[in-house]
Amino acid sequence: MSSADLLPPRHDLASALLATEARLGAHNYKPLDVVLTRGLGVWVWDVDGTRYLDCLSAYSAVNQGHCHPRILAALTEQAGRLTLTSRAFHNDQLAPFYEELCALTGSHKVLPMNSGAEAVESALKVARKWAYQVKGVAADEAEIIVCDGNFHGRTLSVISFSTDDASRHGFGPFTPGFKVIPYGDAGALERAITPNTAAFLVEPIQGEAGVVIPPAGFLRRARDLCTQHDVLLILDEIQTGLGRTGALLAEEHEGIEADLTLIGKALSGGFYPVSAVLSHEAALGVLKPGEHGSTFGGNPLACAVARMALRVLVEEDMIGNSARMGDRLLRGLRESCGDVAREVRGRGLMIALELEPDRGGARRFCEALRRRGVLCKETHTHTIRIAPPLVIEADQVDWLVEQFAAALRMG
Ligand SMILES: *Cc1c(COP(=O)(O)O)cnc(C)c1O
Repeated sequence: MSSADLLPPRHDLASALLATEARLGAHNYKPLDVVLTRGLGVWVWDVDGTRYLDCLSAYSAVNQGHCHPRILAALTEQAGRLTLTSRAFHNDQLAPFYEELCALTGSHKVLPMNSGAEAVESALKVARKWAYQVKGVAADEAEIIVCDGNFHGRTLSVISFSTDDASRHGFGPFTPGFKVIPYGDAGALERAITPNTAAFLVEPIQGEAGVVIPPAGFLRRARDLCTQHDVLLILDEIQTGLGRTGALLAEEHEGIEADLTLIGKALSGGFYPVSAVLSHEAALGVLKPGEHGSTFGGNPLACAVARMALRVLVEEDMIGNSARMGDRLLRGLRESCGDVAREVRGRGLMIALELEPDRGGARRFCEALRRRGVLCKETHTHTIRIAPPLVIEADQVDWLVEQFAAALRMG
């Protein structure tokens, strides 16, 4: 008897797995009830063999497409050689990772971490240290300005300045030292800055808030204000970075450079948690041995995977493709769904379709899209986020537009 014979019948497998998850897992997510077992490029397959075009890309962690063969090869090769040394010793993948990442982004220093939230926490620590050591702020007085509607992760300090009730409620007491301003409001930023301001932390486009694009010139103005008042500009590009918006980093759309840039998610092409804080000399330069660290941060497996994830992004022109296919998808959705949507907005392949509030919420349209072979996730009740892998092709974009047009015309 083969092991396959011991599994429940194929059509019962999904429901058995869903039941076990519901019984044994913490219920901190509300996923669509599709159980995936395989992925390749823009496609994923469920345990019943049904194929879907993935329009979430694991919140943009799989920009390079599922199971990219070159990243897979880098992972397996490195996994068979050396995976973890800790930073107590050096490994031969870290230096080339730094070198290639700096050459690509123009950064001068890198702090490697694992998850996005850790990169955010690291940047907040660095900004506070910088405020005391370089700017001369009095001990424990440093302030960090953030934006309404922000999403920077799930750790306690990060949710301390969240404005989303579900993210915060019941988790106090919170970390002090944060000020919230409206997103996209440079005047409010200027008024919020004091001599104690260490940093302004902002997403170039707010992803989790529903692909909220700030007014043109906001980031440019924020950059000028930060420079003028000696405040670090921290751009959280964990979702917008690495090609998602049609540029390597979204900051390029306004021709600015942050003092600290946070990347994660697609830094590993979805194979492994890898994140990084990028900066010029002065900011990350404040960290001394023993002041910060991570057992897995900068491990050779992470570095080898990230190096290849960056390489394929560039060599296979995924950033250019994101710009071209993003334009095509945005145009197609506006033409075919503009009359049934409140707004279709986006930059590159970071797109959102917002429904009129009287359409009964986005969830049922995500269910309808699923029946048409498209996997999407709603954000904030009325918005469908559309963010396929950056390897999507023109005919796949056109097919997607047809599925949206049909699904949105139901009921
Ligand atoms: C996903 C995300 C994070 C958190 O990343 P994790 O790896 O889930 O901790 C932080 N900031 C932004 C903008 C994100 O999209």
